[in-house]
Formats: sequence, structure tokens, C-alpha cells
Amino acid sequence: MSQAIIDVRGVSKAFGGVIANHEVSLKVEPGKITGLIGPNGSGKTTLFNSIVGQYPIDGGSILFEGQEISRMNVQEIARLGMLRTFQQTRIFSKMNCIQNLLISVPHRKAAWRNMFGKHSPELIEKAERLLEFVGLYSKRKLVAGSLSFGQQKLLEFAMALMNEPKVLLLDEPTAGINPTLINGLIDRLKRANQEFGITLFVIEHNMRVIMNLADQIYCMSHGELLASGSPDEIRDDQRVIDAYLGAH
Ligand code: ADP
Ligand code: MG
Repeated sequence: MSQAIIDVRGVSKAFGGVIANHEVSLKVEPGKITGLIGPNGSGKTTLFNSIVGQYPIDGGSILFEGQEISRMNVQEIARLGMLRTFQQTRIFSKMNCIQNLLISVPHRKAAWRNMFGKHSPELIEKAERLLEFVGLYSKRKLVAGSLSFGQQKLLEFAMALMNEPKVLLLDEPTAGINPTLINGLIDRLKRANQEFGITLFVIEHNMRVIMNLADQIYCMSHGELLASGSPDEIRDDQRVIDAYLGAH
């Protein structure tokens, strides 16, 4: 196995008396799509928050490209090339799509604005290319608040791509999306992985989606890692089936 790009080692995290993650260990391989599944409340989002530096962890360590990052904050980790998207989208609803992409690049790149405060043509062109990539080019001048929820998720995905991350963590990208948009989104995620070489780590509740998308899947239950394997192995794993059945 090649060196993991994300190496989670025995990570624990509690909120008061609630143990959200208990000694979780997993690896995300570079260039691959890794899935994270598990019933609601099993600690998936908490693990993402810990990986990207949103929360301090209580125990264990997290390595990114071999470097310890568990004491870094979100901005420091983003600068290393790891970003995440949220279960609920975080877009600027009164700005148009292009403006949303332009303000999503880090502040150090604000120097790309010229002396009149205008963004460089290169940056605008990049924003337009990415809107084309996610299928929102024809909506580029519309305010983001006028888009459907699914389109807002595609916009948020394009905003993350503006930063050219090495790794993108996606928290339930298809949740709440119209089924007709889901296949388009899966296709875009695969293309971002294959064409841009972005490593993806995806929390997904929809089994069909994650089986279709991921190279490797981890399953969590009650804050602990329950199983890992290829989509076929996970599909047939009795512990995974029981965890899902038990949750309903
Ligand atoms: P999942 O994403 O798998 O649905 P979460 O990581 O959101 O699970 O939650 C795991 C557990 O941790 C749940 O019991 C949840 O209520 C608790 N939890 C998550 N975030 C917080 C928080 N900020 N404060 C208190 N409890 C939290
Ligand atoms: Mg969650």
C-alpha cells in the first residue's frame, strides 16, 4: 500500500459525556475515492471535523502526507491542501455564482485583484471553467440564492475546486438533492478525481451512491470503526448490514 495521504491513528473525541469517536484508525490513499458510511450519529461528521482541524481531538494523531496535523487549525490545514464541504451548503446567497467562486480563494491570492479591486481575467476565466465543469455556466450571473438546493451543492463543489485542493472531504454531497441531479454529481466527483487528480473522502448515506463511487469504504457504528473493504466486501459484510438494520 502506498503512503496514506490521510492517516488517522486511534483518534478519540467526546462532547461532554457523549463519545463521538473512540480510537478510530483509518487511512485514505492518494488519488483514490474513499467512502465513510454508518448510521446517523455514528460519528462520521465528527471525524471529518477533527481531520480538517475544526475540533481539537482528545487522543490519537492525524497525519497528512506524513505530517502531524492534529494540532493545526482549519486555515493551516487548508493551506496544506485539504478542504471540506458541509452537510448544509455554505454559499453567499446574494452574490452571483462567479462572485461566490472568486471570494472562495484564499486571502493570499487577493493580490490577484488589480489596483482597482478587480479580479484578474485569469481568475474569472478559471471560475467560469469550473462553473462549466459543474454544469452551472448558464447560471453564472444569477444570485446563488436562486439556485435549487442541488445546484447550490454543485456550486459549493466548484468553490472548493477553485482552491485546487489535494484532498476534498465531502459530507453527504447527495443529501437532499433531486435524484435527477445525483448521477450528474457522482459523475463530476469521479471526473474531479480522475482528471484533476483530487483525492476524495466522502461521507455518504446513500448506499447505491457510495458503492458506485468509492474504491475503498469504511463503516462506522457508535463512534467506532466497524468494518472496511472494497464496495463488494462491504455490501456483503454482516456487521455492516446489522448496523444499518439496527439503526432503523
Ligand atoms: P454522524 O455524522 O455519523 O451522523 P456525528 O459525528 O454528527 O454523527 O455525531 C456523533 C455523536 O456526537 C452524536 O451523538 C452527536 O449528537 C454528537 N455530537 C456531534 N457534534 C456535537 C457537538 N458539537 N456537540 C455535542 N455533541 C455532538
Ligand atoms: Mg453527519
